[in-house]
Amino acid sequence: MPLSSFNIAPDHNLIGGLWVPPVTGDTLPLINPSDGSDICVIARSGAQDVDHAVTAAHTALNGAWGAMTALERGRILTRIGELVLQRVDDLAQIEAMDVGKPLTQARADAVALARYMEFYGGAADKVMGETIPYLDGYTVYTLREPHGVTGHIIPWNYPMQIIGRSVGAALAMGNACVLKPAEEACLTALAFAAIAQEAGLPDGALNVVNGTGPEAGAALCAHPGMQHLSFTGSVRTGEAVQAAAARNVVPVTLELGGKSPQLVFDDADLDRALPFLVNAGIQNAGQTCSASSRILVQRGVYDTVCDAMAKAYRGLVVGAAQDDRHLGPLISQRQKEIVSGFIEQGADLTVAATGQIDTNAPESGAYVVPTLFKDVPPDHALARDEIFGPVQVIIPFDTEDEAVQIANGTDYGLVAAVWTLDGGRQMRLAKRLQAGQVFINNYGAGGGVELPFGGVGKSGHGREKGFEALYGFSALKTVAAWHG
Ligand code: ADP
Repeated sequence: MPLSSFNIAPDHNLIGGLWVPPVTGDTLPLINPSDGSDICVIARSGAQDVDHAVTAAHTALNGAWGAMTALERGRILTRIGELVLQRVDDLAQIEAMDVGKPLTQARADAVALARYMEFYGGAADKVMGETIPYLDGYTVYTLREPHGVTGHIIPWNYPMQIIGRSVGAALAMGNACVLKPAEEACLTALAFAAIAQEAGLPDGALNVVNGTGPEAGAALCAHPGMQHLSFTGSVRTGEAVQAAAARNVVPVTLELGGKSPQLVFDDADLDRALPFLVNAGIQNAGQTCSASSRILVQRGVYDTVCDAMAKAYRGLVVGAAQDDRHLGPLISQRQKEIVSGFIEQGADLTVAATGQIDTNAPESGAYVVPTLFKDVPPDHALARDEIFGPVQVIIPFDTEDEAVQIANGTDYGLVAAVWTLDGGRQMRLAKRLQAGQVFINNYGAGGGVELPFGGVGKSGHGREKGFEALYGFSALKTVAAWHG
């Protein structure tokens, strides 16, 4: 069993290099969404456990971790990446069981985690300051310094990738981290921490505290010892995290939801576009912040695109994570109810096509039939609200201006894509679309760890991934020396 092959105690936290039970001894069940079975129990931590983790992180900063050079930190991250690569299959197995992700997608996440460690391992000693021309007799330069203790509150949909981009960048800059995984899926966070220990990460540089959001999560956000908070999750919880950060006046990075559009123009290369139009909506069963849930199509190719997407949907099979179908279950029965509620709200709309649930899929799993709606008015709830499930809407448009207006017409702005062979239109829309990332004739650029990622509007603020994340996880100090 891959879980037992990791040196972890799932019902314990990792604090200061030691696996310790929560002070109360309380636990929470961890459920396998493919069949509803119990996997194990995890720690249900509270404010005291969080306090111990924050103290351990400060101790690390004042000790071996804080004394390391950027080169030494980078070497440890690179070593973590090597060990993750060696354990990709085991990590994929436990992620598939925990999140319900088809094995192939879980494996890709593990490979991405390794890639984040390689990237940030290599980048750690390449973050430079500037010299600034100033008055006669002065030399002025800038330094980038770690914030100190950083909190990482992550969701259940892509635990490994989000640990990679957030904890990886924070460690590269020399911060000490307290990681609060989601209570629905936290096993790879624990496994990652064990791997990091094995790679030589000093005790307390990474602490993992499990528990619920309102208990462990809120306690972490409110702790006066925190010096930066990084949160990925829902808008509602993001507001609470930002409010807590405000009370302690600490910087916060929020990566929240999205309603990301793909704009398909009459001159698009449809053969290239089609797989992206569908996959960007159904990957991880649509439980992706940057899922493309709105497909805007110009009238000249509207029927062609609707028919082709409908055909693709009819071929989609949903099944247990281990069976590695196109889609797995949703994370929980609760999430299934939310997404089913959205599909019911589409009762007045035209269903272009649906996928199907594998006959082998256990009855007790949280499965939802992928559903494609067409001719959807842009102001319909399904075209405005984040669904976080395998549901896409197709919206027709006539002109470029109309397409931009619809695309920018939600509260969100995470990702957008433009499908056109017209170079002028590509450049115009890259500027006009309100989003943190715009893709031209592709979607997602394969995940690109090098590419800054984050949103505008209710999709959040701050940037993760790439070098930008290193700037976010550090504070700029200006040094002005007068020497005459
Ligand atoms: P979802 O509703 O899909 O579970 P959330 O945004 O609530 O998404 O959860 C994302 C992460 O935020 C999880 O780790 C969760 O435990 C945590 N969380 C939830 N509520 C709070 C809160 N009030 N304060 C801090 N973290 C929270």
